[in-house]
Amino acid sequence: MTKIDPHFAGELKKYGAEDFAACFNCGNCTAVCTLSEKTANFPRMMIRMGVLGLKKDILASKEPWLCYACGDCSETCPRQAGPGHYMAAIRRFAIAHYEPTGLARLLFKSNPFAIFFTILLAVILGIFLFTLKPDHEVVRWIFNWLPFAVIHDMGMVIFGFTGLAVLIGLINMLRHISGNSKKAKGKKQSAWNAFKGVVGEIATMKRYRDCDLEEDSYWKEKPAYIRPWFIHWSIMWGFIGLFLSTVLDFILKDPATNIWWPSRILGTVAGILMIYGASLAIFYRLKKVTKTYEETRFSDWTFLIFLWIAGITGFWMENAVAFSSNVNLHHVIFLIHTIISMELVILFAFSKFAHAVYRPLALFFHFKNQG
Ligand code: SF4
Ligand code: SF4
Repeated sequence: MTKIDPHFAGELKKYGAEDFAACFNCGNCTAVCTLSEKTANFPRMMIRMGVLGLKKDILASKEPWLCYACGDCSETCPRQAGPGHYMAAIRRFAIAHYEPTGLARLLFKSNPFAIFFTILLAVILGIFLFTLKPDHEVVRWIFNWLPFAVIHDMGMVIFGFTGLAVLIGLINMLRHISGNSKKAKGKKQSAWNAFKGVVGEIATMKRYRDCDLEEDSYWKEKPAYIRPWFIHWSIMWGFIGLFLSTVLDFILKDPATNIWWPSRILGTVAGILMIYGASLAIFYRLKKVTKTYEETRFSDWTFLIFLWIAGITGFWMENAVAFSSNVNLHHVIFLIHTIISMELVILFAFSKFAHAVYRPLALFFHFKNQG
């Protein structure tokens, strides 16, 4: 039986859906959305669910994750109901409800708590790192100051914790949306084909590109390298590349100090991509270039700024190590780099970052239902 929650609209406001109650159901937003189709009807349908308090139906929908926040729908809404922002808000709501601890709810809903928690976590990590005594005797001073085994072990514990939260979140999402998928009528694709669709989408961002090429889009005439899809692609592949290069360092247990070592080259290229993407994303939000960028929540800022700082401080450290430079400033930068990177990983399941696992799962069901 469908349960209606009369307080749901008020709840969604706390996640950033400020004006959606103004919607009068005209369907304009769905008509302009390039990504809305027979097997994925949004954003109007999602807004009706919000207005009617159909909380469980939203959690059981793949649609929130099929939207790439291009904002075309918000530009054309006659009621200024902000359908694009509404879609972002229900993604936050879903992240907060799939993860098991309740931390994401607090982080999304309360900026003072988010600031307090972020600082507290940084202080705890900082104190932990400071307990290890510096040693300036050798060129590769970093790993004397902070023994590599310690970073390795701490990384494993953190990965374990956040990995478990991500896994439970994914299982919860699967539980919610697989029922809807089974009910969907029509011919279905094989799991293998759906999987290939997801991989293709991650590699090329075709759906996001389609948004940017929409007839009335602000980005249509702009060069590809400054369009939002490419910015998103750069951040995503930059992060994946940096993650792989860090894993390679962990596996080798003796990270290369030579910048021409393969893992270093991968890290350098990925770092450039990530800094490029994060810089432009921050710039667009500061300048509010389109409606999409007009409303930036604290959680959006922290995510982007953390990625940017992690990239810049990573480069700083790469140069310091490559040129065997050993001054106190490098120690401070290294501390900042380690704390920010660890916060990003620790908060993966509890922040906007979680879309990196939820979106592919939603895309899988989407491609599966496309006969
Ligand atoms: S959000 Fe705006 S465009 Fe979409 S159905 Fe409601 S009023 Fe119409
Ligand atoms: S923000 Fe873009 S992708 Fe998302 S619902 Fe609106 S038009 Fe569609």
